Amino acid sequence: MKAILFLLISVAGMAAFYGCRTGQYTAANKAYKKQVKQFAKVIREYPVKDSAGLNYAEWVGTTNLSLRKPNFVVIHHTAQNSCEQTLKTFTQTKNPVSSHYVICRDGSVHHMLNDLLRAHHAGVSKWGNNIDLNSSSIGIEIDNNGSEPFSEAQISSLLTLLDRLKKAYTIPTANFIGHADIAPGRKVDPSRRFPWQQLAQKGFGYWYDTTAVQVPAGFDPLLALRVIGYNIQQEKNAIQSYKIHFTPQDTTKTINEADRKILADLMKKYQ
Ligand SMILES: [Zn+2]
Repeated sequence: MKAILFLLISVAGMAAFYGCRTGQYTAANKAYKKQVKQFAKVIREYPVKDSAGLNYAEWVGTTNLSLRKPNFVVIHHTAQNSCEQTLKTFTQTKNPVSSHYVICRDGSVHHMLNDLLRAHHAGVSKWGNNIDLNSSSIGIEIDNNGSEPFSEAQISSLLTLLDRLKKAYTIPTANFIGHADIAPGRKVDPSRRFPWQQLAQKGFGYWYDTTAVQVPAGFDPLLALRVIGYNIQQEKNAIQSYKIHFTPQDTTKTINEADRKILADLMKKYQ
């Protein structure tokens, strides 16, 4: 009898514990479901009512369709002090920011939004001729305050996640980028401590090889930055973003001889 009572108390205790942990986000989860229902309604609406004055011919729904796929992965650091803080931020409506994934310091991964829906993580952004990266990318936030190293557990989880995303959506190697890459002068994440070279070795983004590089005559490093994808409208900002990613030990905003070699090599890879 005592054993049964103990068991009952334990179960009740566990329920209370988990209930409390998950209960914290009950309202957010409800709001998520409600919004997804609304979007599902939008997708089902066909033929659409035309507001541009076009007269469509008889409705013929094609039989051949599928869902659009994300084509980029944008990596961030949260600049916050805990995962809990980030989860809170992403479940409040007053500042409507979000990402698809949040990776905590212990390597646990929170999936906050279906990959096929648009998260609010990139903001005003440009990469190549792509703008509105929110519409075409998956956002991954790594719990990190910006001045500390990324934990091994985080990077290990990140690599597993990237592998899944790359395979699931056939994301090109070149399209694994950082927030700083797509928003020069405005964003500096993930920080200079982020292991981009390690990612490139696994096929997520490119890295350079300077030993076999001959910088061609008349080489234009800015054009190379543009070919890689950087928005070079503000030259110094573009150089800074490139340095955060590829030469993190260098905090200047000027191109030196080593950079010319790196850029000549990278340009070929991104071409
Ligand atoms: Zn960011």
